[in-house]
Amino acid sequence: MIILAGTPIGNASDASPRLVETLERADVIAAEDTRNALHLLEVLGVANRPRMLSMHDFNERGRVAEVLELARTQDVVVVSDAGMPTISDPGYHLVAAARGTDVTVTIVPGPTAAVSALAVSGLPTDRFSFEGFVPRRPGERARLWRELADERRTMIFYESPHRVADALESMIAGFGADRPASVSRELTKRFEHTERGTLAQLHEWAQAGVRGEVVIVVGGAPERRTSPEDHVDEVRRLVDGGMR
Ligand code: SAM
Repeated sequence: MIILAGTPIGNASDASPRLVETLERADVIAAEDTRNALHLLEVLGVANRPRMLSMHDFNERGRVAEVLELARTQDVVVVSDAGMPTISDPGYHLVAAARGTDVTVTIVPGPTAAVSALAVSGLPTDRFSFEGFVPRRPGERARLWRELADERRTMIFYESPHRVADALESMIAGFGADRPASVSRELTKRFEHTERGTLAQLHEWAQAGVRGEVVIVVGGAPERRTSPEDHVDEVRRLVDGGMR
């Protein structure tokens, strides 16, 4: 069986008793970083020292067949460095490969930075879209903002702290300075802070520098209200073009 196990995103006390139990019973741990996984076992007081396999972004595809084979007879617990495996972290290719096989995939859920940041943002939570990491290249970012310009759902982005101000500046160009947003840093840790405001206000705040791990949450596009007058030019153009 494959057991995807969510681990704390900064505060070890967020580990559930079920996570501890699962690690205690694991036959194999497939970890993004085996040293971090060992540290987690120590912090959580888990005595079990199962076989550890490294499974990170760069070797996951090559490891899939081996891990699936192990999972036929043993309990393989998949953990990332923090939060939910498969969410901007290794695990997806393994789970995708398990589709159509008789290997069971199950979950020990834990925190994820994306949903935690959304919950504290004060922005609508009824519909949201997780967009992963903000692209680094300006051209790719601009293309993404164009794609998302009319997105009505609240959008969640991961970003590295030293690029937050840049990312917010480019979001202003894409979504407008007045779009409501939030920046959450160091969630569940000692210096946790969520700054809420418009993109322009957050950009100004971020100029002083942002440290730690960061999630940016951006409100969706406001509903566009149209009146019959808004369509006059379009109708004229069509009529002038010969439409009756
Ligand atoms: N799998 C993880 C999850 O479930 O959230 C995400 C892993 S991704 C490689 C790491 C990114 O998640 C960081 O760059 C940051 O954007 C976000 N993140 C992780 N922990 C965080 C925390 N405690 N506070 C704010 N953001 C965090």
